[in-house]
Amino acid sequence: MGKPTGFLEYQRETPADREPLERVKDWDEFHLHLSDDRLRTQGARCMDCGIPFCHTGQLINGMASGCPINNLIPEWNDLVYRGLWREALNRLHETNNFPEFTGRVCPAPCEGSCTVGLLEPPVTIKSIECAIVDRGFEEGWIVPETPPVRTGKKVAVVGSGPSGLACAAQLNRAGHWVTVFERADRIGGLLMYGIPNMKLDKEKVVQRRVDLLTAEGVRFIPNTEVGKDYPVDKLREHFDAIVLCGGATKPNDLPIPGRELKGIHYAMDFLRGNTKRLLDARGSLTSSGPVISAAGKDVIVIGGGDTGTDCVGTSLRHGCRSLAQFEIVPRPSDTRTPDNPWPQWPRIFRTDYGQEEAAARFGADPRTYQISTTQFVGDESGHVKELHTVKVNMAFKDGRMSFEPISGTEEVWPAQLVLLAMGFRGPEDFLLDALGVARDVRSNVAAEHGKFRTSQEGIFAAGDMRRGQSLVVWAINEGRGAAREVDRWLMGETLLP
Ligand SMILES: Cc1cc2nc3c(=O)[nH]c(=O)nc-3n(C[C@H](O)[C@H](O)[C@H](O)COP(=O)(O)OP(=O)(O)OC[C@H]3O[C@@H](n4cnc5c(N)ncnc54)[C@H](O)[C@@H]3O)c2cc1C
Ligand code: SF4
Repeated sequence: MGKPTGFLEYQRETPADREPLERVKDWDEFHLHLSDDRLRTQGARCMDCGIPFCHTGQLINGMASGCPINNLIPEWNDLVYRGLWREALNRLHETNNFPEFTGRVCPAPCEGSCTVGLLEPPVTIKSIECAIVDRGFEEGWIVPETPPVRTGKKVAVVGSGPSGLACAAQLNRAGHWVTVFERADRIGGLLMYGIPNMKLDKEKVVQRRVDLLTAEGVRFIPNTEVGKDYPVDKLREHFDAIVLCGGATKPNDLPIPGRELKGIHYAMDFLRGNTKRLLDARGSLTSSGPVISAAGKDVIVIGGGDTGTDCVGTSLRHGCRSLAQFEIVPRPSDTRTPDNPWPQWPRIFRTDYGQEEAAARFGADPRTYQISTTQFVGDESGHVKELHTVKVNMAFKDGRMSFEPISGTEEVWPAQLVLLAMGFRGPEDFLLDALGVARDVRSNVAAEHGKFRTSQEGIFAAGDMRRGQSLVVWAINEGRGAAREVDRWLMGETLLP
């Protein structure tokens, strides 16, 4: 355990972020690190609570409570407190293949269920996780580890997001030959082409892990869409098992009058194009190539989740003229409500990096709650010029959520760029249809969590493609679990966790 009285003596401290008005001038990561001494102090706040909930990863009320990959948090907090960084790294890698990703982008459900958090601000678990793995890389402790024996079995993983990468890492560790197919030109799924560079550096962090996996023996084939560039019959013939990790990126649309106008885009088209151009140009945004630009425009982002926030941060870096973000549901309360007690994930009002930057740039939080767009209006060239909106009340009718317009609250907003970030509807159908894989009621691949077997023998599914759009930490959980079940299916038994 950390220092027995640490939580009584020390206050929670998280690393400072770079100043909002400074960081919007570039695409570099904005989180800074605490010094070793201060991190040890934070580790000391872990209180030996007896029954730690932080690493349980159970679902309560449909939300993760505690770490979904069961990171051994109290153990590595204690090791950090005692200055045993290498041992902390080993402990961390036992449950998490990629702490450098979760340490940067995880919303940290662990902290929501930390026992210290019952009365005081919780232990700063995520920052400690990030510091342990970053130190491991700096010290050269993280090196390729090739399996001592190969089984001769061949496994195809379709999709190179965090679920595909975790699955490949584990199967390779078990000695199987793993080939990862990716239709994009770079490996990483939404780690590469969804989450923007300022949250997760593509070259220094994502590519570094891909290189490590390559050195360990995983084969990556980019620019290859299975089902189109690589036939499914060939996949069946050449591989002993297949794991589908293709994500769930079919976006929700807003089919209202004026939707066909120019200047209205899905968030992912905006974010993907931006990162691709950034990487192709190696740090400069002046290169050629298609990119949807927010420069000099009035931008409206429809949707208040992670994707919407990333559109806000990206638009600011382009130099937009004004920025608004719409959310149809009511603003969450500032503190937990009685129906959302500890150790549940706290459904409270949060200000993420994008909103902080927008407030610094334009003087106010960009978010408007309980607002619904009724139509887009265009100019004579067919380009969007304004949005018409109305405020709404959220109601439940026959167990279903509905939104009632409030008369007299109609407004008109100027906009030359509209970004639709209203969530995702599930995986794309093409590959799943070609393989004859059954779907569940939400159109995701039907496969039980824990078993990960689809309706087709020898085909498994993991990550967003199985559970719907979720989190990186759940994708890692699923990739690891699917690898364990594939190993068991191929070999009759498994030692994978
Ligand atoms: C903009 C955005 C921001 C996000 N921010 C966060 C965040 O801050 N924190 C967090 O925890 N989560 C975040 N998420 C969610 C998180 O990124 C996903 O839950 C996670 O990446 C899912 O991993 P995955 O491996 O299942 O799928 P993905 O990461 O979606 O990867 C699937 C890959 O499969 C490839 N593919 C699909 N079909 C084929 C085919 N037929 N052949 C070859 N390749 C194929 C796709 O090109 C893609 O690269 C964010 C999501 C978005 C969209
Ligand atoms: S992966 Fe996420 S939930 Fe798990 S310890 Fe890290 S920050 Fe917490």
